[in-house]
Amino acid sequence: MKMGIVIVTGVPGVGKSTVMNAAKDFGYSIVNFGTTMFEEAKKEGVKDRDDLRKLPVDVQKRLQKQAGEKIGQMDNIIVDTHASILTSSGYWPGLPEWTVKAIMPNQIVLVEALPEEIENRRSKDISRTRDKDDIGLHQRINREYAIAAAFMTGATAVSYTHLTLPTKA
Ligand code: AMP
Ligand code: MG
Repeated sequence: MKMGIVIVTGVPGVGKSTVMNAAKDFGYSIVNFGTTMFEEAKKEGVKDRDDLRKLPVDVQKRLQKQAGEKIGQMDNIIVDTHASILTSSGYWPGLPEWTVKAIMPNQIVLVEALPEEIENRRSKDISRTRDKDDIGLHQRINREYAIAAAFMTGATAVSYTHLTLPTKA
């Protein structure tokens, strides 16, 4: 059965990957957008996934486009990604028109939490290099970018506490 694509977004450290593991029980496979981008970037000498967002935005755009087109070919997947990325030149959409239209998700989920909870989770995760940013602001910007992506594709936009996944028939 074709269940389509669900996109799950949330600021770094919100616990997105942890939350998404539950979706495996519904017959979805998890695809990490950052990993798909990083696989391409490694061929060009990028050594750390946390260096991706520091690359010139035009390079990030190219890698993002390649990853979006690859992911758009798949089905029955949950995509772990970001509604926006804080780059050196500002908040950049993770799901710009060409990327979200290549993917055509059924649903865009925003995983949100209190900024202080996220701060706390980030400080415990030594495997990643997290930015020191305004988490509340980033979450507000993400809502707006997620709504724009939903508008362009007809996907529903939901917060994760209301997450309802279509079950396997
Ligand atoms: P993550 O492990 O989810 O934090 O992803 C690692 C990195 O991949 C992020 O810091 C971004 O640089 C990049 N990335 C993930 N999703 C997207 C996206 N939709 N658009 C652009 N870059 C992305
Ligand atoms: Mg993650």
